[in-house]
Amino acid sequence: MLKIKPPNYIFCPFCNKKLSNIKEEDSRKRKFCRFCQWTYYPHVAVGAAAIIVKGKKVLMVQRATEPYEDTWMFPAGFVEYGEHPFDALKREIKEETNLSIKKARLIEIFQSQDDIRSPGHFIFFYKATVSKGKLKTDKENKGIAWVDIKNPPKIGWKIHKHIMRLLQQKLI
Ligand SMILES: [Zn+2]
Repeated sequence: MLKIKPPNYIFCPFCNKKLSNIKEEDSRKRKFCRFCQWTYYPHVAVGAAAIIVKGKKVLMVQRATEPYEDTWMFPAGFVEYGEHPFDALKREIKEETNLSIKKARLIEIFQSQDDIRSPGHFIFFYKATVSKGKLKTDKENKGIAWVDIKNPPKIGWKIHKHIMRLLQQKLI
């Protein structure tokens, strides 16, 4: 379990009254609003990422913004509210690469440890095959390329570095 602290709400986000009540559930103390009955269940975001291999190469994008501006990563994005991670994968890959996912298999779920925008978010990593097509990325990135697995460019996110090591060792 990661040692991360959820945002500490002081006021109820729905009725604006002070959150001064605590209720105990499953031996955890949870803030709740005695006016509108809202209970605060802290949760993390979810992301989906694709490992798309072609021979000795893998598809990566180069980040255009901080954190880790200019470094490379596997195409990925956050899951929208109510969206299934696999649907987010299809949407994000279309947006970031211009390719359509044909098949995808869930490899592993990781917890991000270095994203201050969304601490501890889950990332569903899929190994995917895609349709043929011309590579084109969106404004989130400044580059897209099939990179050499043995000799990749600089990667930023820790989890993406880890995935590249697994690919290099042929473990995924
Ligand atoms: Zn309230």
